[in-house]
Amino acid sequence: NKEMLRKPKWLTTNINTNKSYTKLKKLMRSKNLHTVCEEAKCPNIYECWSERKTATFMILGDICTRGCRFCAVKTGLPSELDWDEPERVADSVQLMGLRHVVVTAVARDDLNDGGAQVFAETVRAIRRKNPGCTIEVLPSDMKGDYESLKTLMDSRPDIFNHNIETVRRLTKRVRARATYDRSLQLLKRVKLLSPHTPTKSSIMVGLGETKEEIIQAMDDLLAHGVDIMTIGQYLQPTRKHLSVERYYHPDEFKELKEIALEKGFKHCESGPLVRSSYHADEQVNYTARQ
Ligand code: SF4
Ligand code: SF4
Repeated sequence: NKEMLRKPKWLTTNINTNKSYTKLKKLMRSKNLHTVCEEAKCPNIYECWSERKTATFMILGDICTRGCRFCAVKTGLPSELDWDEPERVADSVQLMGLRHVVVTAVARDDLNDGGAQVFAETVRAIRRKNPGCTIEVLPSDMKGDYESLKTLMDSRPDIFNHNIETVRRLTKRVRARATYDRSLQLLKRVKLLSPHTPTKSSIMVGLGETKEEIIQAMDDLLAHGVDIMTIGQYLQPTRKHLSVERYYHPDEFKELKEIALEKGFKHCESGPLVRSSYHADEQVNYTARQ
């Protein structure tokens, strides 16, 4: 049994909660909505919700048909599709006064379209009620189904985000029922379908990858037209999940960011607490809103 690594000091944050934050939490419960910010106990929640006016909603329920070994979301048989969910999300975006919203979903492998239709309806409902809010989608690979992807892209999100999560060699260990190549192909297809939509992908480090493998992942993403990359430290959600192999120093994250920008990414967020949706509000600058 491997001894658990000690968490370095740069990973401890003060969870700053105030009244408005508590109010928002209540709102989520009353609308029966789920946010990744809460489920993943994201350390950035105060900054995002209160200061940056950004949040990440998880739609299509809170039970996933897959069980990735880094992810804290429950696995099992999902609930029935909830067609009112798009409007409730749109209302909450309005009540929270969000400027940027990320919409993600559990992987619904039980549905023919992977949930793409409800996903697209959610994007439309948010836009209808919040014309000034930029919308980023973060779907699963939707089983690699082209029609599902088209359904989602028809709703014209401002940013398309899909995470490869880790380097090629570790994909099988880290992700359930997803392949590195299928994810790359999905990102490429988005560029072909909608060349002006910025695409984005993320990896977690600390799972045993080498620097060369990270650099290879950057090259692979660029070769598939990806514009934005985010890199963050993997943190083990519970003892049952994959253990952390290494904590990267903030300087190493800085170096990775420099490499990514030099290689040609238009934007890169890289740091110990960076999450796929962290500082997403800054990444829409070159979005061509159609
Ligand atoms: Fe939510 Fe993402 Fe911000 Fe974390 S970084 S609080 S998950 S929007
Ligand atoms: Fe978590 Fe997504 Fe994997 Fe489901 S598909 S287990 S939500 S990372």
